[in-house]
Amino acid sequence: MERTLILFKPDAVQRRLSGRLLTRLEDKGLKIVGLKMLRVTKELSAKHYAEHVTKPFYPLLEEFITSGPVVALVAEGPQAVAVVRGMMGPTNGAQAAPGTIRGDFGVSRQMNLMHGSDSVEAATKEIAVYFKPEELISYESTLAGWVCAADEAK
Ligand code: UDP
Ligand code: MG
Repeated sequence: MERTLILFKPDAVQRRLSGRLLTRLEDKGLKIVGLKMLRVTKELSAKHYAEHVTKPFYPLLEEFITSGPVVALVAEGPQAVAVVRGMMGPTNGAQAAPGTIRGDFGVSRQMNLMHGSDSVEAATKEIAVYFKPEELISYESTLAGWVCAADEAK
């Protein structure tokens, strides 16, 4: 079963949207297997956004992502990486369609509420950056049999 790394960014936490974002993930049928609040340091920001550190928008992105607490989660489910990217919508909230998280809750290119890993490889790396193995909780959900068929749950 696929896992993906999600962050509720400082704008989501400050706007008190964490509960509503978590509800959307749970409503979708994703299983939460890791969850914590933390403060992203400059070092962690540079690691997390390694592909962006040389870009012109990086200084403001660093300022934003380190400006307040984030909620980090690991969600599990069939095609979890693509499912979460689809739920978030494109980067810029002003262009994201209604119905997506970024489309429903924001109008910003930077303050777009949520991060989700963009590939299975990135998810594996990002999960290891944010969570120790013992912080990820494997458990049987009693709803599992009503979320997808047995041949999809792999
Ligand atoms: N970002 C920004 N300005 C830009 C592009 C991106 O501040 O012009 C921020 C935004 O918060 C985005 C993050 O940098 O979510 C990472 O950018 P990426 O293009 O990887 O977007 P994502 O994968 O989050 O949709
Ligand atoms: Mg990205």
